Order: sequence, then structure tokens, then C-alpha cells
Amino acid sequence: MKSSRRNFLHKAAISTAMAATPLAGFGATFEKAIDRTPKSSSPSDLKITDIKCGYIRNGGSLFVKIYTNQDIIGHGEGVDAVAGTYHLVKRMGNFIKGQSPLNVHRLFETIRKAGFFQGAQSGMYLAVLTAIETALWDLAGKALGLPVYQLLGGKFRDSVRVYMDTALYQSRLPKPEDFAAAAKEAVDMGFTAVKFDLDQANDPNKYDRFNWTASPAELQRMYDQMSATREAVGQKIDICADMHGRYDAITGERVAKMLEPLNLMWLEEPVPAENTDAYKKITASTSTPICAGENHYLTYGFRPLLEAGAVDIIMPDLQKCGGLGEGQRISNLANTYYVPFAPHMVASYLGAMASAHVCASVPNFMIMEWQIYFHKNKMFQEIVHFEGEAVENGFIRVRDIPGIGVEINEEGMKKYAQEGVPFFE
Ligand code: MG
Repeated sequence: MKSSRRNFLHKAAISTAMAATPLAGFGATFEKAIDRTPKSSSPSDLKITDIKCGYIRNGGSLFVKIYTNQDIIGHGEGVDAVAGTYHLVKRMGNFIKGQSPLNVHRLFETIRKAGFFQGAQSGMYLAVLTAIETALWDLAGKALGLPVYQLLGGKFRDSVRVYMDTALYQSRLPKPEDFAAAAKEAVDMGFTAVKFDLDQANDPNKYDRFNWTASPAELQRMYDQMSATREAVGQKIDICADMHGRYDAITGERVAKMLEPLNLMWLEEPVPAENTDAYKKITASTSTPICAGENHYLTYGFRPLLEAGAVDIIMPDLQKCGGLGEGQRISNLANTYYVPFAPHMVASYLGAMASAHVCASVPNFMIMEWQIYFHKNKMFQEIVHFEGEAVENGFIRVRDIPGIGVEINEEGMKKYAQEGVPFFE
């Protein structure tokens, strides 16, 4: 079985290379075709042998590698709710060792149900499961010679539109002109949509650190920042704003109303994630589209939000909401409410591409998040391997090679590893 499949693949690779190539380029194309052929895959005998992980960004980014008996390795990433989860990764790994990674949904459900009394409804448990599930898709794709989007049922689009998160939040009290400059920079780079953060814990006009009712001066500051953004980029660029779920309901309502003349793509998480009714009230009160979901988990978590009509757009984080299969299920559920899908994305390029496969595979995909750090922080280039351009003119091209199409660069990642935690051991 193993050798006949190998022979078949070998012959297929040769005939493809010969048919497609003039003689002059034969050598290189032939080698490429061989490279792209999964040489050791005998899917029916494939078994998981081990799972290892590494953490960077103070433990906020988890990378897992799942090993098999055929030297095929799957790569996955989890974010945000992953700090301190080393032993959880190992524990989940024990559930799947010895099993075929091709039964992705079955392994996901096995681990999820096993954690029913351990918080498997949200948070760390699911963020770790997400990283593992993603690595299983990568493994399945490599074993079967197919890109992940194909395993998810094929694609609606070849490229995924992304918006630039300007991360101005990091700098000190940005002024309206800083917003305008950052928006223009993104547009000059080819992006057609930008996002800004409006919440500022150190705003001198805040009443105090714990009360999140915005003062009139805070409201004015928010308006001036977004108004400068709109003026800088004109009407043809999408702009949106994130409140990081920090404010109270009346502030959320006032900000949404106040920003209506600026025609936002959306206002994100005006209030914390837990209260569906508060979202529903804000959404009903304004023509500004309200978006939430990066702090919601599983299709179960999105159901009440959608059922109540509490948001206009959903933005699950596919590196923590349950995984790529779950992301597709959430998107499909949203589609039955005619709600678009606009995933949150704060991961590496591995996570970005994993998310892009899901975005390609659903009809109601709207736009996905992209980060300025890919362009300004060399760490993000050093920690992964991939070929070609990461992003072009505000679009990510979904990779056509087996699996996700982006790999962890363990060597490059090592110097950023979180101290005191084993690194791929
Ligand atoms: Mg957000």
C-alpha cells in the first residue's frame, strides 16, 4: 500500500512536471514538483507520536508542533488566553497520541468533551485546543497533499481582504494628526481599510481608572481622532474603531451615535463581552455597525449573540475561539442571520494564514485583521517560514501548498522564547 502510493505519486509528479514544462526549465520544475509531493504519507497508517510547544510574547503566543510516525509535522498557534498552559498542552497531547490526525473533528470533540468540567466552554482550555486543532488541519493537509481550505470544502475566493490595525494604542496619547498619519501610511501601503483603538486608560480627561463612563472631553477626543482619520483617507477607505470592551453601556451608545456621520465600517466591542442584552440595546440604537466576538468562544458562545440580533458583524479570533473548523461553523451560523464574518487576528503569519484558509472557505467573509507589526517588527519575519509575499495591496493570497502553507521557524523563534518555560521539549 505504502510503496504503491509512493510510486503513484512519484509517477504523477514526473508526468505533471514533463507535461507542464519546456525542456530548458525541466530540472528546477521537476525538483519543485517532487518537493511538493508528500513523499512519506500513507494516510491510513498515520499516527500522532508527540506534541511539543513554545511560547513567545510573554507567554501570550503559543506555538505547537504535532509529530507523527511518518515524519510529517503539523504546526498550530493559539493566542491571548494561552499564558501558563504548558502542562495543558501536554495533557491534551496525551489524549491524541497514537491516533490518526486525519479525524480532526473527532479529536477536537474528544478533547473538548473531556474538559467539560475543566472550563472547556471558553478561555485557556479552548485557546490551547485551538492551537492543537489548527496543527491537526496542517497535518491532514500535508498527509493528503491538499491545502487546508480544500479540506474545509474548497474556496469562495483566492485572496482574503485584510484591514490594517495601526496599533497606535501603544504610543502615548496619540493626537488626531497621528491617527491621520497612520491611516495614510496604511493606505499608501495598499490597504483599503484601517482600524484604530479609542480606549485610553491614561486619558487625562478620565474620571478615574476604574470608571469607564467617558467624560465629554474623552468623547470629543474620540470624535476628533476618527474625524481626522476620515478626512485623511476620504470616503472610499473603510475605517473602524475598537473600544476593547472597556466602556459602560451608555458610553457605548453615545460613541456609536456620535460617530454615525463618519460612516464607520464598524465600532468594535463598545462594552465587555458578557452581556448580550447590552449589545442588543446599543446595536438597536445606532446606524453605526456594531461588531464583537474576539472574546466569545465556540459556536455555542455566538448563538445567543446572533439569535438576539445583538451585533451587526462577528469577529471570532480563530487562534482562540475553538479552531479552524469551529471558525467555519461560527461563520456558517452567522450566515443564517445574514451576519458577515470579520475575524480578529493578533497572531503570527502562521495564524494569519490559518485564518485565511477559513476566510476563503465561507461565503459571508467580509474582511480579516492584519497588523502593522508584520511590517515593523522583524521578530514576525524570523519566527516563521514561508515563500513569497506575505500581503499584497491589502490582500493575502491563500496558499495552495499542502497544509496551512506557513511553518514555525524554531531556530528563529528561540531567542524570543518565554523564559522559564520549556521550548519545544
Ligand atoms: Mg478588538
